[in-house]
Amino acid sequence: SYKLGPKVTNWDQMRKNWLHQNPGFPSSVNGKPRVLLVTGSSPNPCENPIGDFYLLKSTKSKIDYCRLHDIEIIYNMVYLDSELSGYWAKLPLIRKIMLSHPETEWIWWMDSDAIFTDMEFEIPLFKYYNYSLVVHGYPNLLFDEKSWISLNTGSFLIRNCQWSLDLLDYWAPMGPKGVIRKEAGKILTDNLKGRPEFEADDQSALIYLLISKKNELIDKVFLENSYFLHGYWVSLVDQFEEMIEKYHPGFGDERWPFVTHFVGCKPCGIYGDYPVERCLKSMERAFNFADDQVLKLYGFKHTGLLSPKVRKIRYEMEM
Ligand code: UDP
Ligand code: MN
Repeated sequence: SYKLGPKVTNWDQMRKNWLHQNPGFPSSVNGKPRVLLVTGSSPNPCENPIGDFYLLKSTKSKIDYCRLHDIEIIYNMVYLDSELSGYWAKLPLIRKIMLSHPETEWIWWMDSDAIFTDMEFEIPLFKYYNYSLVVHGYPNLLFDEKSWISLNTGSFLIRNCQWSLDLLDYWAPMGPKGVIRKEAGKILTDNLKGRPEFEADDQSALIYLLISKKNELIDKVFLENSYFLHGYWVSLVDQFEEMIEKYHPGFGDERWPFVTHFVGCKPCGIYGDYPVERCLKSMERAFNFADDQVLKLYGFKHTGLLSPKVRKIRYEMEM
């Protein structure tokens, strides 16, 4: 069947040797595991031109967060493997980055339609010392209900190690576009609760894989739900005013969501599961909610969550 590339079997040792030979590129930064945020979008302009503006805002959100937290970013706009187009593009990309950046301990994939809404929260990496995949999800929805939304692949961490390369190899075979992806979609819809009929997607394929190979894989998988590594926008964007009134950045959970992900919105495409006006308005609110946390450093604030205008919140010489 389909392969991501030549089989790599002793990556852990190879990477260890590389790190030993390249002390100028340590796998930790200021005592913390080195994280590389990886994101990207299609090689072509958006079908709906306003989508490109929101891709830019989403990119700004990631630049801001990463600058504040010493994380490097890779933005990809090509298909490294033409078979794995669309949402599947992240798989060959992550594999290539693992092998080309041995200094990276964790690769953090983040969708283009996911933005930071808590600029202070930091991922508790120490919790994941014994794990290699960290994804927002719920064990009961995954293993008991086999729900197609039991986890979300719009924002996840994957460790640079042999286990992850093997996982990518198990994960990819449903991806090749055309007949394979279409037929695999039927298997996924037949087996996963709530899944509509459509071609195989990377999220459903991961869920199906974890269910099928539970014993082999689950020890290294951390299903995180104590904060929003991915947060579903619909249940968050109407609460921002209340959050501002009651709480402050830094919680990352329902009090102040870390990441707000616009699942089903597709502002770059021409149709999504939600009306485009509602999506754009909600993205604007989420973006400005987070931007106020950045602008505060400079003494400014948006005049409202839907406003591109700002006002001063302190005088220049007040520190
Ligand atoms: N993506 C990409 N190239 C593409 C299409 C998608 O890099 O040609 C990335 C992009 O970051 C996107 C993610 O894959 O957010 C998931 O794709 P999907 O089609 O599910 O888009 P979304 O619903 O997240 O906009
Ligand atoms: Mn997405």
